[in-house]
Amino acid sequence: MEFSLKWLAFEITPRCNLNCIHCRTSASMNLKDKLSFSDITNVIDEISNEFKPVVVLTGGEPLLRKDVFDIADYIKSKGMRVGLATNGTLVDERMALKIKEHVDIVSLSLDGSRAQVHDDFRNVKGAFDATVRAAKILKEIGVDFIINSSFTKRNQHDIENTYRLAKSLGAKAWYMFMIVPTGRAKELRDELIDKEDYYKILKWHFELELKEKEMLVRPTCAPEYYALVDIESRKRGIEFKRRTLKFSTGGAKGCVAGQLIAFIGYDGEVKPCSYFLRSAGNVLESGFLKIWHESKIFKDMRDFGSYNDKCAHCRYINVCGGCRARADAYYGDYMAIDPYCFL
Ligand code: SF4
Ligand code: SF4
Repeated sequence: MEFSLKWLAFEITPRCNLNCIHCRTSASMNLKDKLSFSDITNVIDEISNEFKPVVVLTGGEPLLRKDVFDIADYIKSKGMRVGLATNGTLVDERMALKIKEHVDIVSLSLDGSRAQVHDDFRNVKGAFDATVRAAKILKEIGVDFIINSSFTKRNQHDIENTYRLAKSLGAKAWYMFMIVPTGRAKELRDELIDKEDYYKILKWHFELELKEKEMLVRPTCAPEYYALVDIESRKRGIEFKRRTLKFSTGGAKGCVAGQLIAFIGYDGEVKPCSYFLRSAGNVLESGFLKIWHESKIFKDMRDFGSYNDKCAHCRYINVCGGCRARADAYYGDYMAIDPYCFL
């Protein structure tokens, strides 16, 4: 596997107008932006010398940053594509046209098929209606969008309906996220979907993926799914072809943290992925590429032979890899076995 940066999540603000129970940043309107426009463009300049990843502007809520479209334009001027991860609540007709002008793809968060489920998760009444409205506006003006849905015990009963809603709204892809307990989500551990249900949900998803031909579907941060697909396909003698969205990492393997993707936090801290607890360094001190090439954490992520426990000897190490963030959150060791491994 060649390790080159294909996808970068750049958290340009910690500010957010919602208060989601699972937020990795514990974002809030009380926090302040730390990276200036030039801090951000300096990092983009540096990265563009070696890689041309899709850069996803995230937060917090990235649309709260006044220079969000200047940042997007700058990234594009360096030959990279730009994604925008938004909760959708600030997307009216005017904003949608600006998005169309400056951004290549949008991802919207929708954690239920009804206001009651989504608003409970997002802790704000009216969030569901606003996000659905945003999806409809984007669809109408021809902006491609993905729907990301996060699930815990509280909304797992609504998974299938949420998929249906994503499809009816015209999303290009629906990504079902298995929450990793970091940020505010740390307090959520008791709320996380049980391991037994996790397995059942992934099996359900496999059946869905076999049938779903229009919208791209994929469980995200559920690396064991890649092993399950292999096992189930062999069992049934099917040749499973994974489709990829032009803005994804290509579905090379279950977990690609620090291998094909990276995350830069609102404070400049660099991590292998957005759920990861530990920082590998700060762009304000050492730039990005030094961390990508030389930091222990990033090097460890790519050294599959040095993973601990069962993972190191697992035949699916190059297919699954286990969730390193979840291993760290549970065992304080990011090289340990993924606690949700069912193999
Ligand atoms: S470490 Fe876990 S949360 Fe991060 S990208 Fe890998 S599977 Fe997803
Ligand atoms: S042992 Fe590790 S690599 Fe193998 S399936 Fe389980 S989590 Fe994935």
